[in-house]
Amino acid sequence: MMLSQVAINLLTSEPICKLMQPLRSRVVPVFLLHRFADESRGIQGHSQAHLETALTFLKTNGYTVVSVRQVVEAVISGDPLPPRAVAFTLDDGFYDQAKTALPVFENYQAPVTLFLATDMQDQRYWSWDYKIEYLFKHTLQKRLEIDLGDGAKEISFATAGDKRLLVRNLRNLHKRSTNQAAEVAVEYFAERLEVNLPKEAPDEYQPITWEQARSLESRYVEFGPHTQRHPILAQISDEQARNEILGSWQALKVNIANPVPIFCYPSGREGVDFGAREQEIVKQAGLIGALSADPGYVHLTQANNNLYALKRFSFPNDMTQFKQYCSWLEYAKEKMSRR
Ligand SMILES: [Zn+2]
Repeated sequence: MMLSQVAINLLTSEPICKLMQPLRSRVVPVFLLHRFADESRGIQGHSQAHLETALTFLKTNGYTVVSVRQVVEAVISGDPLPPRAVAFTLDDGFYDQAKTALPVFENYQAPVTLFLATDMQDQRYWSWDYKIEYLFKHTLQKRLEIDLGDGAKEISFATAGDKRLLVRNLRNLHKRSTNQAAEVAVEYFAERLEVNLPKEAPDEYQPITWEQARSLESRYVEFGPHTQRHPILAQISDEQARNEILGSWQALKVNIANPVPIFCYPSGREGVDFGAREQEIVKQAGLIGALSADPGYVHLTQANNNLYALKRFSFPNDMTQFKQYCSWLEYAKEKMSRR
């Protein structure tokens, strides 16, 4: 169902939201934010101004930003959350997220949880998917023979748009192979694209350090585990999966005063990037819940979701869509489409 912007603005206005509150109070949208734009370092992402607009909208329209910890605890206990609760998460723990996004959340006194792939903090590690992006961003080549799964073909990537699309396709392709095979592909591309690949994360993939994380931890800013090296968990052995999950939780407990006992799966598609095995490991580690990246609401009744695969919405860079997710409207649409 497509609604016009005028209709959405009307339906998400204060009086209608008040009326629909019983429906909305059953669910919480948890937003997943990615990187923040930093032109000087060639990083594309959300803008700080957009985040401010979104948080201002919530503040002036009767919403309450709560932490993911509060959301999961409410699902477990069945206790109510403030009316029209909304939560925010940031995945990976890059420097731009700390520099640009966190001060905004602090200013608005809005809780946010950062999920860290802890080898980024420990070893300035950067994973193959960022390396692929880096190689295509920095190459002077404009075409190459590449097999995207349907035979080798010459693919041209002269524009930034072409490169983005190609990188997305390559990442999706290699998410289905082992981490080792993906690293082999990275080496192959580094050679063919004639780009020198730094061993440690270069500036544009600079993670926040443990020291920064400790100084940023506050009433509003919390940290949670997101593996050590950001692999696709479904593609690694039982032992590696255990190590990735338990190792990142351990690193957080050692380095952060009050880490959030909630796990966040890299890439996050249930049944593709993680499955029952990962959920079991997380549960046995004593973590109280886990987040996927599949779109949808967290339901405040335990029977209506899987605590170890809670859904999130990608933070839209469009206010109309954001309002729709925050209000009762998207939930009503979701319910209707299930009929
Ligand atoms: Zn991630």
